[in-house]
Amino acid sequence: MRGAAIYAGHSAIQLSLGFLEEGFEAAIFGPPERLKLYERFPTLKARLHQYSDPSLLDSLADEGYFLIPTGGVVEYLTPSLVERVRIPVFGLRHLVRWEADWSLKTRLLEEARMPMPRRFRSISEVDRLVIAKLPGAKGGRGYLVTRSPEEIKNWLKNLREQNLITREDDIFLQEYIVGTTIYAHYFQSPIMDRLELTGFDIRYESNVDGLRRLSPRNIGDLKEGFVVTGNLQVYPRERLLEEFIELGEKLVEATRRLIPPGVIGPFCLETVVTEDLKPIVFEFSGRIVAGTNVYLGGSPYLALYWGREMTVGRRMALEVRMAMEQGRLGEVLT
Ligand code: AMP
Repeated sequence: MRGAAIYAGHSAIQLSLGFLEEGFEAAIFGPPERLKLYERFPTLKARLHQYSDPSLLDSLADEGYFLIPTGGVVEYLTPSLVERVRIPVFGLRHLVRWEADWSLKTRLLEEARMPMPRRFRSISEVDRLVIAKLPGAKGGRGYLVTRSPEEIKNWLKNLREQNLITREDDIFLQEYIVGTTIYAHYFQSPIMDRLELTGFDIRYESNVDGLRRLSPRNIGDLKEGFVVTGNLQVYPRERLLEEFIELGEKLVEATRRLIPPGVIGPFCLETVVTEDLKPIVFEFSGRIVAGTNVYLGGSPYLALYWGREMTVGRRMALEVRMAMEQGRLGEVLT
């Protein structure tokens, strides 16, 4: 294989550098206004392609590229396109559909027996603080936190009027867990036949993180918001690491049962750790998450397996390299 096709945005810098360092080529594609950024850095010798329709992915496939699923790919190219395109995909192609669909995602997390927040199937059931979510990887935009079923009904009415959703089933009502958010990143390696812990991050979110800088008297009617503006490094207490690893292992096993051969490469469990030190899993992503960018200089957790720090992007490239050398590419690309 010649190299990686990477959508402009999300973790494109990390991915391009990782694949280039491992001796592959990198092709960054996207709308023209997004490509400018990648010309600015002299070390980023990626080929840039304007994307206007999926035929670009066919030509990249003909040239020997494979596609890296990212949040940008899920959001802008859509899961159904990812399932249809001819270009080989790094990881388990069908997992993007499971990630984009609340029912499938819940089924997977339940199969993995994850400790989870309660899900409310109808607005009238709501009897505690909940977070109401919109579908897709929209970066937390437009969510509502409330105890009031009335407020949820009004929120839903507004969303319908703006054509942001079509059915009530498109929204997801989840118990709001109080604690600190910790996003755990993993890499499931078919080649090494092991799960590697690659690190952790916290999402820095507006206005929820901005509001705590204000005193209650100034908050007034300002509302919580979960638009991600960046990511922060976090090093969980060492006594939590074993639990995080076991949660990752349970997710791998569940994907093996429900979507064989199971997750391949990077994935993330999004958790809230409560004051009794229990990580509660409220989301998962079956691909590289932007939170791995906190280790743009290399993850010290990956150093525990490889003796040197490396990014998740580089780790993915290494997996493809090893798979090629061992004639096992079919276990990494699908
Ligand atoms: P998500 O789109 O599910 O990743 O959620 C966006 C953000 O909302 C997260 O980064 C958390 O800050 C917050 N959040 C989501 N679900 C919960 C929950 N069940 N309890 C507490 N906070 C949550």
